Amino acid sequence: MDRQVKYVLTESDLPRQWYNIVPDLPAPPPPPLHPGTGQPVGPDDLAPLFPAALIAQEVSADRYIDIPDEVLDVYRLWRPTPLFRARRLERDLGTPARIYYKYEGGSPAGSHKPNTAVPQAYYNAAEGVRRLTTETGAGQWGSALAFASAVFGLDLEVWMVRASYDQKPYRKMLMEAYGATVHPSPSPLTASGRAVLAEHPDSPGSLGIAISEAVEMAAGDEGARYALGSVLNHVLLHQTVIGEEALKQLALAGDVPDLIVGCTGGGSNFAGLTFPFLREKMAGRMSPVIRAVEPAACPSFTRGVYAYDFGDTAGLTPLFKMHTLGHDFVPDPIHAGGLRYHGMSPLLSHIYELGLIEAVAKPQSECFAAGLRFARTEGILPAPEPTHALAACIEEALRCKETGEEKVILTALCGHGLLDLAAYGSYQAGQVTDLELPDRVLSEALSGLPGVAAPPAGA
Ligand SMILES: *Cc1c(COP(=O)(O)O)cnc(C)c1O
Repeated sequence: MDRQVKYVLTESDLPRQWYNIVPDLPAPPPPPLHPGTGQPVGPDDLAPLFPAALIAQEVSADRYIDIPDEVLDVYRLWRPTPLFRARRLERDLGTPARIYYKYEGGSPAGSHKPNTAVPQAYYNAAEGVRRLTTETGAGQWGSALAFASAVFGLDLEVWMVRASYDQKPYRKMLMEAYGATVHPSPSPLTASGRAVLAEHPDSPGSLGIAISEAVEMAAGDEGARYALGSVLNHVLLHQTVIGEEALKQLALAGDVPDLIVGCTGGGSNFAGLTFPFLREKMAGRMSPVIRAVEPAACPSFTRGVYAYDFGDTAGLTPLFKMHTLGHDFVPDPIHAGGLRYHGMSPLLSHIYELGLIEAVAKPQSECFAAGLRFARTEGILPAPEPTHALAACIEEALRCKETGEEKVILTALCGHGLLDLAAYGSYQAGQVTDLELPDRVLSEALSGLPGVAAPPAGA
């Protein structure tokens, strides 16, 4: 019997191109709109915030985009990443299912985020930008961009969601170790931060507020640009190296996936893993079910609406058609800080509307239990975010135990939890509760939607 647990690619298998799913979709995604004119935003509207190369990728109609050599050179530090077969977890569950996980926790920052931080820093530096601003939730994006900024000689200022700033001091220290400056958000440094603090001096912050602050600072400085760690098309594009490698590795293992599961905050690790498989599915070469897993406390797919909304709290960004809980929504401070965004990637939202993927929500105690079960069998302590995907994998594997189905399940273990030990500590101390998100809170947040019904005719 084949006991292989690890499928490793060589450097020559490193993808040389990112995969853009947009031209393969049966319908194009609705365009982002300018909040003032209601017209689709053009490259000029985005130029104060992003370098030209990334704006071009954001709207690209090319199926494949070459990865620059300078980016490949940095990717080589940790890519290709391994694919593991979770044999000990399978045995522990007593399931006939075969569970594979693509491990992205071996990157310098410990998550999948450097896959996009590196090209974003590279393109900014190549176009003469000196300073970047960004937001971070749990600190994973901030530390990934701090690493990438150090590599390409950029200054970085990070607005970190207050709840995580207080709960996760080590990520702040990691960002500072890489040379970045970190502010808790909301901060008194920006008009958007001051407005929130005036109303809620104890605000735990949210990604939406932190984005407003970072966007405001970049827009006010000619030599600065803004970087976003999820949600946008170019971010999802960069993450497709995960799925391209996983396709080759599953082929090495001689398996074809029946189910692909991933956690979704803004959607980037999920899209990165699944888009290359979705390409194969749309071409009729395989037919996996593709399932997004989100926290019950921040359920943008399963309880949000599909509507035009701002990407940030202050309303400084374009309007994006996406699954959203409303840009005023401030989720409870759940431990999976990376899953606390009010919206969902517009591209993934569109793909969900097309019926190409499905979504479920999980309460956090089930996720922590899954994370510990995984650590005790496979050895890696997962970040709190991918424990959502693991909970869904375990649920499916136990279903297979009932039915006897030998399903092939694939997931992305998109980060390790070694800087999230305090969260595991609270769970083990019995302090993690599953808070139901009341309908009243949700409808209040949704009442703040800008009410843009449809893109203008001909768009
Ligand atoms: C940021 C992050 C997430 C959530 O972001 P996505 O764009 O949805 O991937 C999930 N897991 C980890 C480990 C993260 O760092």
